[in-house]
Amino acid sequence: MPWPNLFPQIYFGRMVYNIPMNSPVRVRIAPSPTGYVHVGNTYIAYYNYIFAKQHNGTFIVRIDDTDQARHVADAERVIYRLFEWLGLVWQEGATIDGSPYPPYRQSEKIDRYKEKANELVDKGLAYHLDGAIYFKIQPGDPIVVHDLIRGEVVFERKNLKDFVILKSNGFPTYQFATCVDEIDHKITHVIRGEDHLSNTAFHVLAITALGGTPPMYAHMPLLRNTDESKLSKRQGHVSLQWYKDEGILPDALKNFFSLMGWSHPEQKEVFSEDEFITHFTFEKFRSRAPIFDLDKLRWLNGVKIREMDNEQLFNTLSSYYQEYDQNAYQQISANPQYSIRVVGLAKERLQTLKDFWPQNKYFYNEYQVPTKESVAKFISDDAVLLQYRDAVIALLSDASLAWEKDELDAKLHQLQSSYGLTPKQAFMTLRLIVTGESATPPLFDTLEVLGKDTVLGRIQAYLP
Ligand code: GLU
Repeated sequence: MPWPNLFPQIYFGRMVYNIPMNSPVRVRIAPSPTGYVHVGNTYIAYYNYIFAKQHNGTFIVRIDDTDQARHVADAERVIYRLFEWLGLVWQEGATIDGSPYPPYRQSEKIDRYKEKANELVDKGLAYHLDGAIYFKIQPGDPIVVHDLIRGEVVFERKNLKDFVILKSNGFPTYQFATCVDEIDHKITHVIRGEDHLSNTAFHVLAITALGGTPPMYAHMPLLRNTDESKLSKRQGHVSLQWYKDEGILPDALKNFFSLMGWSHPEQKEVFSEDEFITHFTFEKFRSRAPIFDLDKLRWLNGVKIREMDNEQLFNTLSSYYQEYDQNAYQQISANPQYSIRVVGLAKERLQTLKDFWPQNKYFYNEYQVPTKESVAKFISDDAVLLQYRDAVIALLSDASLAWEKDELDAKLHQLQSSYGLTPKQAFMTLRLIVTGESATPPLFDTLEVLGKDTVLGRIQAYLP
């Protein structure tokens, strides 16, 4: 049997896509300004951005703001600010002077949508009913959507109903406005969430009816929580703002997005954006829903933190705290040379920028004297403790002692054994008294960075 009879719905009369493969790539993200930026939309925005960059194309931000009821003042600015934070650079949009096909806000195109809807009425492709305008599904061949991830997806016309393109209040529907915009903005590839796959049949029909050529599509699987439920407001953290507030690095979040549905050819998990751009293809993209695992993101963020040199990390931390915690910022930035050394010790234990201050504030003016009970866990006899303390003070005050970790390590070990204490007793006690914490970077490094005056001062002030 010849091919056409095996797959008649695909091989007979399919709609033809004739966007030349060599025309410059133009993609768009079309967020609705509802007040927060969904991390799932951001992941999709990122793939649009990457695809454009990979093809020397244009990444466009279009604002889908026809739904006035949901419109939140200032929300558009929030979108731009957060995209900028993440480093998603767009070349066209309402904020970019000289963008060639304005407007880029749907609310500024209401008349154009009306005019286009009426044109379809005049051509007999749409009709008025109850004050609205409906697009008429004509009988005909199945509609084939060419999807870069899913291949050809076929829609039978008998399963489609006539749909509203202009509402009775004069506003276009999403279904229609998006089609007019795809044509006006000369979009070549629509990369969006798979929740829009079923809309695509309407879009192909409407774009064709409007005289345009349907773009290529890539419908990306939606992110899932670790229990495989859809990432929604109720579960997990869906707002991009949350990731910024939490001290996730843009590079870590983008690297994490790139692992959602795609694998590096060498199975690497940590790589740069340039490397991603070199290797990425939609053909290798899995359509199975990717799991957005926050623990993995935190781990990746820690790796990216440790990839930075101390000075870079110090600068990143100070900008973070400048925005989020004035007290921490002032203390960290008061002595950059000192803080760079602190950062060098602290970075091993950081997963987020937000971890830095609570884990390391004893390096600053936020030292908390440890409780008697916490110290007594290691040396319970007050007399022994006092004797040991005085011996440590005598040792550390000695002017001939070099204040350097190897020297401190050697001398304090000698003292510990001569007092008959276990290393754990001696050094946990010292750690607690000097930092107020039981978990810190290696003790002798910590003493070295804290400096002689601070260390002696805290020990002298400690009374069991
Ligand atoms: N404003 C729509 C959304 O955020 C755009 C969908 C599309 O990309 O066509 O779901």
